[in-house]
Amino acid sequence: MSEAPRDFIRQIIHDDLDSGKHDEIVTRFPPEPNGYLHIGHVMSICLNFGVAAETGGRTFLRYDDTNPHKEDQEYVDAIERDVHWLGFDWGERLTHASDYFGQLYEAAEKLVEMGLAYVDSLSAEEIRAHRGTLTEPGTNSPYRDRAVDENLDLFRRMRAGEFADGEHVLRAKIDMASPNMNLRDPALYRIRHIDHQRTGDTWCIYPMYDFAHTLSDAFEHITHSLCTLEFEDHRPLYDWFLDQLEPPHRPRQIEFSRLNLAYTITSKRKLGMMIENGVVSGWGDPRMPTIAGMRRRGYPATALRDFVKRGGVTKKDKLIEMGVLENSVREVLGVEAERRMAVLKPLKVVLTNYPKGQVEMMEAMNHPNRPELGTREVPFSREVWIEQDDFMEEAPRKFFRLKPGGEVRLRNAYIIQCDEVIKDDDGNVVELRCSYDPDTRSGTGTSDRKVKGTIHWVSAAHAVLATVRLYDRLFTVPNPNAVDDFMDVLNPDSLETVQAMLEPSLATLEPGDAVQFERLGYFCPDSEDHSSPDRVFNRIVTLRDSWAKIEKQAMQGQN
Ligand code: ATP
Ligand code: MG
Repeated sequence: MSEAPRDFIRQIIHDDLDSGKHDEIVTRFPPEPNGYLHIGHVMSICLNFGVAAETGGRTFLRYDDTNPHKEDQEYVDAIERDVHWLGFDWGERLTHASDYFGQLYEAAEKLVEMGLAYVDSLSAEEIRAHRGTLTEPGTNSPYRDRAVDENLDLFRRMRAGEFADGEHVLRAKIDMASPNMNLRDPALYRIRHIDHQRTGDTWCIYPMYDFAHTLSDAFEHITHSLCTLEFEDHRPLYDWFLDQLEPPHRPRQIEFSRLNLAYTITSKRKLGMMIENGVVSGWGDPRMPTIAGMRRRGYPATALRDFVKRGGVTKKDKLIEMGVLENSVREVLGVEAERRMAVLKPLKVVLTNYPKGQVEMMEAMNHPNRPELGTREVPFSREVWIEQDDFMEEAPRKFFRLKPGGEVRLRNAYIIQCDEVIKDDDGNVVELRCSYDPDTRSGTGTSDRKVKGTIHWVSAAHAVLATVRLYDRLFTVPNPNAVDDFMDVLNPDSLETVQAMLEPSLATLEPGDAVQFERLGYFCPDSEDHSSPDRVFNRIVTLRDSWAKIEKQAMQGQN
């Protein structure tokens, strides 16, 4: 490796290759298919697939399907689509914990035969009562000293379906007084008379996560089993299974801290609740921190990968600002997205001295720093839309946009002057009467007159109508995970819809194509709802970081 390892996990991997402990790195990404993947999973995916790819290794996509579920094909499909979209590939290595149910059962029998596992016949409640607390040791179950033969017989009959759910459970025989609760004779197998989505009615006993996960890692020759910090306390159990069963390949578990994003939630369960409560339209709602939502919103996959790389891999808890993610998005789109003009909150401007019926085609650069992207022609005529915000009747001195009697340049077109303000009966400004200076045409005008402000516009006769969705953060507090009920801190204004006017070239834009609306931000057609003629655009991100300001307001509010 030429570069120094970027983080402590890459350092360990680097050392393990250097010392010859491994000649190939094998990792896995192990989602439970009970929801869509979110930004936290992006980190885990980039880490697991990344460290393997960087060293010429391999990565498994392994479904943790130890819990029999009813229908999860939607989630399975979504996970595969999302991992691929992020730019990673598992090749032939798509597996399920359930692929190993046979081997797991054999390993459990082996533990029984070694006197290291027993069938407990206490109820779930009694087992809990025997478990002790963080400060008090647990007490042994009266069934703990069953003979090996009796355990084996009972375990086989558990498997054969002779008992009801909860009647018995297979437990590891470790230490009921261990200060680590995970080592107080954890359950290995429980009885559940439920069909499994892959194995059907073959099994009525199912392995517990820790047992299945450790051994699946070993069976797949995983070298480094990377997981989040909440599993640190489970590592002694992970190692206990490996010490007792001595599989030919011994994986090593390493923990890192979860990625949390401010003003949003990274828990499949809570995201699912938001859908059930109708707060968002589904897993792929563009406000959701899911991969599907971020893709539909228009975030490029490269931006997500870049964001995760910047966040790094550590053991410290972190709550990353939304602005950091948005900056990654801006950086990618700033280079890639072509520029266009659109008006989100239109105000009509009539150019009283411009010939009626005349149309001029104005040349506009598609990208200010990339001449190779060429130019396009934008029609200009007597009536144009400008942004309501670009006009102020009582303007402060430093307001360089349009004001009564003032001048401004219409981008790629002429300098205009505001002569008259038309209002409705309620006093709202509904139209401006302006005059244009024919000598100031951009590029070819004979006058070299300059004005301070330049604003965007769209020719009214040529405008393409579109619904534009403006998104804001989902929550009103930085860490909705930390409040009692995250439903209490929802941002009621996370979605604003406006009827916008677009320049004609935007009529043919397809979902997946992002553009910059000059001065406004980055936008793309919505992949679900956009059609011709019912055009629907999403705002991907604003041009500047509006989060910094929000943060400051939040801080002031607290003081
Ligand atoms: P959730 O609470 O959203 O269901 P999970 O950890 O239960 O998350 P899994 O499907 O079990 O979800 O996770 C698959 C992998 O992704 C695990 O290795 C897990 O550690 C990792 N992961 C999940 N959330 C995060 C996160 N916020 N940051 C980093 N890695 C994560
Ligand atoms: Mg989980």
